[in-house]
Amino acid sequence: MTAKLWPQQQAERIIQAFPDAETYLLQTGFGPSGHPHMGTVGEVVRTHFVAMALAELGKKSVIQVFSDDMDGLRKVPVNIDTPWLTEHLGKPVSAIPDPYGCCASFSAHMNKELCEMLDATGIPYRFVSAAEEYKKGTYNEVLRLALARIEQILNIILPTLREENREGWFPIMPVCAQCGRVNTTRVLSYDAETATVEYSCTEELKGAVGCGHRGVQPVGDGHSKFGWKADWGARWAVFGVHYEMYGKDLIESAKLSKQIVRVLGGRPPVDMFYEMFLDETGRKISKSVGKGLTVENFTRWGTRESLHYLMFKNPRQQKKLSTDTVIQYMDEVLKMTPADPEYRYIYFAGDRPALPIVYSDLINIVSAVDVTDIPVLREFITDVYGPETEKHWDYVQELLEKAINYYTDFILPQRSFPVLTAQENELVDKFLAMIAREKDAEAIQNQTYTIAKEAGVAPRDFFRLLYQVMLGKPSGPRVGTFVAQMGAERIAEIIRRHRASAQ
Ligand SMILES: [Zn+2]
Ligand SMILES: [Zn+2]
Repeated sequence: MTAKLWPQQQAERIIQAFPDAETYLLQTGFGPSGHPHMGTVGEVVRTHFVAMALAELGKKSVIQVFSDDMDGLRKVPVNIDTPWLTEHLGKPVSAIPDPYGCCASFSAHMNKELCEMLDATGIPYRFVSAAEEYKKGTYNEVLRLALARIEQILNIILPTLREENREGWFPIMPVCAQCGRVNTTRVLSYDAETATVEYSCTEELKGAVGCGHRGVQPVGDGHSKFGWKADWGARWAVFGVHYEMYGKDLIESAKLSKQIVRVLGGRPPVDMFYEMFLDETGRKISKSVGKGLTVENFTRWGTRESLHYLMFKNPRQQKKLSTDTVIQYMDEVLKMTPADPEYRYIYFAGDRPALPIVYSDLINIVSAVDVTDIPVLREFITDVYGPETEKHWDYVQELLEKAINYYTDFILPQRSFPVLTAQENELVDKFLAMIAREKDAEAIQNQTYTIAKEAGVAPRDFFRLLYQVMLGKPSGPRVGTFVAQMGAERIAEIIRRHRASAQ
């Protein structure tokens, strides 16, 4: 028996915990106080894998993408260069103007960016805005319940707070009726019967200063929100969430939220944590800095399947994202066949033909042939990979366009064709004469060594020279394989052209 894949294990846990649910609610979270990033999209893609596993077991599910757009803005993201945002600190992000000027609010812009990224994946989901749900009254009943059971909530949360933060802490944060801030209010008293609170807008939080207003208002209909530490559990109770995964940094919050949801009359969902993505320098990819490989970049150089695979492969393993990551995942994903158990999760549209194409080879071909002209490359690739590629040209062209993007972005700006010395020219000529005779990849590889040895040149240096005249860089694919694949005549033509352009 083969081991179960992780989404299948998750699906079984969900069914076991909630055997009677008709449709499973799988939730993912998004904090729209900055741009969505790889982790945000990854969580939805991974949740979709679980939805697929549930479907295989005959179970229906819905992915709810929940945006925390009622949260106050705590700091201006460093990658958003809009100084006037500081005057809005502490207000719900859905009540702050769009710094880009195109949407109804700050969070509407971030939500739109996320939805565009998700729509490109083709994954079905339901988008839910916290601000809208609070305003519609969806939270009213649970807010009222929280007031009625305030002692229980305080007993859970207060011990987790630092001593100096316990005084005055309250699980519900009123939105100030005068200045609209939510991070600067303090609850003075409450009435569970009428579901109202008395508050003052007198707190200060990281640059957000209260306006001094004092008043009494209902907690429902968007006049307040659950504060951090109570919000997540409240959401589980309000929507009846069956499953949610989250980044490793939220493990403690999840533990707490499981207690809160019970107090608020709900049940904790089945959960799973995943490891964080790191940028090239090993730092956590943070949404306020927005560094590292972005989803746009990833899909500029790789197919959607390579992105799926990045998300599928052991979510508990920490992954460093760099531009090489794309090539690595592209090569792995193109090697997969329908016989691989994870294939159907990665290729979920199921419309990709199996072709013998290796992505890194494709990049080498584009580099060697040195054109970005699709019709020219088409002839070339059909020749190298056989007539199957012609039958599935649309897909091959998609792969080719990604390879061209990669070539244009990274290889082209860095390559160089230096003028060769007399001895180097002689060696290259010997190589060309040899490949005109030899057709076999192994033979070409061995003969290349022989040429170097006979001339008293270190093979490593000779290979470097060949890469330089073929690709304009000091390293590349296995020479024998590459030459056999490309054909001696083309290699001769490429080298002739590069020698002519040397400077
Ligand atoms: Zn906008
Ligand atoms: Zn105020």
